[in-house]
Amino acid sequence: MGKTQLENKATTTFIPLMSPDITMEDINAVSEVLKSGRLVQGEKVSELEESIARYLNIKHVIAVSSGTATLHLALIALGISGEDEVIVPAFSFMATANVVELVGAKPVFVDINIDTFNIDSTKIESAITSRTRAIIVVHEFGLAAEIGEIISIANKYGLSVIEDSACALGATENSQYAGTFGIVGSFSLHPRKTITSGEGGVLVTNNDDLANKFRILRNHGAETKNRKTEFILPGYNYRMTDFQAALVNSQFKRFEKIIEYKSIIAQFYLNNVKNSKIKIPYVPANKKHTWQTFHVLLDSSLERDEIIDCLMSKNIGTNYGAQCMPFQKYFLEKYKLNCKELFPCSMLAYKQGLAIPLHTKLTEDNAAFIVEQLNKI
Ligand SMILES: *Cc1c(COP(=O)(O)O)cnc(C)c1O
Repeated sequence: MGKTQLENKATTTFIPLMSPDITMEDINAVSEVLKSGRLVQGEKVSELEESIARYLNIKHVIAVSSGTATLHLALIALGISGEDEVIVPAFSFMATANVVELVGAKPVFVDINIDTFNIDSTKIESAITSRTRAIIVVHEFGLAAEIGEIISIANKYGLSVIEDSACALGATENSQYAGTFGIVGSFSLHPRKTITSGEGGVLVTNNDDLANKFRILRNHGAETKNRKTEFILPGYNYRMTDFQAALVNSQFKRFEKIIEYKSIIAQFYLNNVKNSKIKIPYVPANKKHTWQTFHVLLDSSLERDEIIDCLMSKNIGTNYGAQCMPFQKYFLEKYKLNCKELFPCSMLAYKQGLAIPLHTKLTEDNAAFIVEQLNKI
């Protein structure tokens, strides 16, 4: 693409890729906690856990300090370590594979389906060995993976399914919420996600033993029974602060509205981006997409990074969506996998994927301008 093609029109203000939805009411809710002086894991954290449990219709919700901490605790609580293998999609945010390394286990990468950017469920069985213990399924960009199908495969081989639903609070498959299919679901509350605590995450499960382990592990290994506290494990400090929880609680009241607004813009993009060099996302009929990211795929004839610069010169913030994880330095040097051969779809998404702005501060005019510029590429 020649840079000149987009030169005639630039918006006066920068349109960021992402912007958290924070109102004065949210800010006041945070201030109230700061004024109270009770800052860490108190009633606001409990309130957050209760409202997410009610929303997802799940027994236990455990709030922690980040989405990465949720995944780390999930693996630890399931006792995954040493010789164990964990199946992960090759294309995701790095945390998905990093946590497997952090517990000393081996991530076994499986390519994605290029239409959904989610793990290709037809390629999972051939990656299972006698050492496989779990599958981390990622619901990438807010679209549920083939989770029903994956649960069947996992059950057949006796594997645990951890749902990395970092991007997918509110996403469904056949009307069931992502994060509630596996033994444990994990969500992030980073500012790139739909609602945010700054840094934060929640674990969700119907399993009493796991929930108990999560609560102990996030709090220095402390178990409280009959008002007596004992330190029974070398735990972590993965607690969330109460002012962070207050921020989420305040935003959560309009969670559905935020998703609805983003869905309207996403639908506008789906209807109006008409460029043979840009493949727009596909949403299977049995799924509800929450549009954490609107991720398009650029034709191989286009240099993605040039397009990013070009759109930046028009005041439109875009970026790549996720990594081909086995292609990143640490994993490449350790496992030396031929990524182009083994994970062609993940490599394509990594090289040619482009996330375009989608958030509640985006106006109709902004969206129309973005479409206009995309259609000129
Ligand atoms: C954001 C994200 C994470 C990590 O969450 P943090 O809260 O940033 O630690 C993990 N997995 C996926 C798929 C993500 O998108």
